[in-house]
Amino acid sequence: SHQIHIIGGGLAGSEAAWQLAQAGIRVRVSEMRGVEGTPAHHTDDLAELVCSNSFRSDDPERNAVGVLHAELRTLGSLIMAQADIHRVPAGSALAVDRDAFAAGVTAAIDAHPLIDLVRERVDTLPEGPAIIATGPLTAAPLAAAIGQATGEDALAFFDAIAPIVHFDSIDMDTCWFQSRWNKGDGKDYINCPMNREEYAAFHAGLIAGEKGEFKEWEKNTPYFDGCMPIEVMAERGFDTLRYGPMKPVGLDDPRTGRWPHAVVQLRQDNALGTLWNIVGFQTKLKHAEQVRLFRTIPGLANAEFARLGGLHRNTFLQAPKLLDGTLRLKNAPNIRFAGQITGCEGYIESAAVGLLAGRFAAAELAGTEAPPPPPTTALGALLGHITGGAKADTYQPMNVNFGLFPPLEGVAKKVDRKPLMAARARADLESWIAA
Ligand code: FAD
Repeated sequence: SHQIHIIGGGLAGSEAAWQLAQAGIRVRVSEMRGVEGTPAHHTDDLAELVCSNSFRSDDPERNAVGVLHAELRTLGSLIMAQADIHRVPAGSALAVDRDAFAAGVTAAIDAHPLIDLVRERVDTLPEGPAIIATGPLTAAPLAAAIGQATGEDALAFFDAIAPIVHFDSIDMDTCWFQSRWNKGDGKDYINCPMNREEYAAFHAGLIAGEKGEFKEWEKNTPYFDGCMPIEVMAERGFDTLRYGPMKPVGLDDPRTGRWPHAVVQLRQDNALGTLWNIVGFQTKLKHAEQVRLFRTIPGLANAEFARLGGLHRNTFLQAPKLLDGTLRLKNAPNIRFAGQITGCEGYIESAAVGLLAGRFAAAELAGTEAPPPPPTTALGALLGHITGGAKADTYQPMNVNFGLFPPLEGVAKKVDRKPLMAARARADLESWIAA
């Protein structure tokens, strides 16, 4: 019989199973497709890519996703091995033949002597060692069981993502630090002031901007007032935003000593202070439209976005509060979580968290301890974000990006920062493996 039970055979579950089996551990993988589908998957294969066929940048020198690819290859990732085999031309990106890729992953898992692949839906949390990797579309009974085990507000069913901006791209000569009425420690918010003309133009831009559509199955999932799209609020009236997220009261522009007509506020998004989210700006606007419009905000003319706004159906945990440093549920440590349900975002990020969960579990079952990867590596940066770096109450899914990495020591020219961070990641991964 098996030593660990993995629920979900997607990107994360398949990778976790592979890592465990390669470490000599007997695994049971339960995948419900074959018995019951999801609203986004079309096949019964493991690791099906539900949308794009791209794993994004494969540049390990200057792109955080490329760094993550390289680290996964070094650690014997099944997902990367199959992606490399089934690669199709896509410039500097890694794109795959999706059917051949998923078939390759399925065949590898099926053929492994230590893996037992079972087509079944699991509705309760296992009693023994387990990894839950059921993804953004976790079946409802299991989602309810997870909700019960973690507390009512700890499991979200929608991601209402406000755009996130790299701090070093914000013009702090135009913006200033201040909390409304000077509450808090004074550095909690960055404020971007707007005069009446700027506000009117911005309001018009929101109304006119091209929006994405909700998928049919997303329309049935309720979302709460707290995550209403900014453009929907704008449609309710010219001044609705000025009485909502763009309220200027209690915010004194140091250049005029007065409250501006309207204010866009950014709130710190990670412990490092390198990422800031635009408060209340979740949106269905198309990505190009967001970049164009949000760069008209005073102080954000050169904003670089770590991620753009969005609103999707997505099941994910308040991981920074609930999970320990090796992805175990704090109040039921026999259970680990992996993949998108931990609040990472993306195929390759999901696979990466699957790899980590598999390796941590393998070490534990072997009676040893696996030290987590250094925070300066892509794997470590992602893990750090999920298990503590992000603020729990505003936690939203995130792709890997250099904003999650600790800043470089010493000064570096802006153009050199990414290559230096990538080089640091390579060196630190090597020392970690050597140790
Ligand atoms: P999944 O790959 O979804 O795997 C979870 C598995 O668990 C599924 O096979 C499911 O059938 C199974 N399962 C669920 N509940 C149970 C249960 N109770 N018992 C047994 N099995 C169960 N990311 C990108 O990088 N690029 C994109 O273009 C992209 N597009 C997306 C589009 C949509 C509509 C969605 C929802 C997500 C998209 N993502 C995309 C985000 C994300 O990276 C993928 O969803 C990714 O597949 C997540 O990996 P995972 O292993 O966590 O979950």
